[in-house]
Amino acid sequence: MHFTDPVYRNPYWPTFPLLQVTQGCTHNRCKFCTMYKDVRFHPHSLDIIEEDLKELAQVAPHAKTIQLLSANPLVMTYNKLKPILELINRYLPEIEYIYAATRVSDLKTKKVDELENLRELGLREISLGVESGDDWTLKRVNKGYTSEDIIEQCGKLSDAGIDFWMSFLNGVSGLEHSHDHAVHSAEIFSECDPMLVGTGGLTLFPGTPLLEEAQRGEFTPLSEREMLVELKTFVENLTCDCYFITHHTVSASLTGPDFLKRKNNIVDTLAYELEHGDFDRMAQIRKNKRSL
Ligand code: SF4
Repeated sequence: MHFTDPVYRNPYWPTFPLLQVTQGCTHNRCKFCTMYKDVRFHPHSLDIIEEDLKELAQVAPHAKTIQLLSANPLVMTYNKLKPILELINRYLPEIEYIYAATRVSDLKTKKVDELENLRELGLREISLGVESGDDWTLKRVNKGYTSEDIIEQCGKLSDAGIDFWMSFLNGVSGLEHSHDHAVHSAEIFSECDPMLVGTGGLTLFPGTPLLEEAQRGEFTPLSEREMLVELKTFVENLTCDCYFITHHTVSASLTGPDFLKRKNNIVDTLAYELEHGDFDRMAQIRKNKRSL
């Protein structure tokens, strides 16, 4: 199999088998991310992909799922993606679910009927590292798209019947814009109505422009308490029913389906954490993180 380090795969999807169809990230400019800093973006040739699929056909001939790598495989044009999905179906004929992470901007080149065709070929679930729905924040951290883009591209996924995830990056706007980041993200996410909303907390990793800005006093990171306030504001304003994932609290797991039924309970738990949370422990957990 042809894999290029770092190999990041979504742990909530079946992590075997994996198929790398691109390496690195075409954007590579988000101010909080160094994941693919040293990796040149490169799409794999159809020959290399076929070699890997022949190998998978030997070891996992009955595979029903497969996860495409790396950061944004769907940046490839429809005309390049279609033969890849056809190959997957030829070598793994029982495939039902093809998963991929990608960037919002990668969807701009795809028409709804093309997305529908990809869905017919098995592309069922896409994870979008949206991070924010707030335009000031998106520009501040150089995500490379706007809230209008998010709404437009997620609308195409809904029309094509492809399920999608949206992630909220807690803390990424810094203290000066925290409230707007939470409220505007919740509004945009609710409008897009994803199957799943996941939240992660910003960690300032060495080598990231955001850490350098923080060291120069140009970016004010949130304390653990302020992160929790922002997360609570986001949850209070989120109105779409979805599976909801967060790992921010230590007193109770807030991850699960039926967000709207659980929303009041989630808000109450976050309020409890704000009163009684062990913020030193939360800071220690974040300090020990090594990558996104
Ligand atoms: S966060 Fe995602 S889109 Fe941004 S540079 Fe990192 S891998 Fe690329």
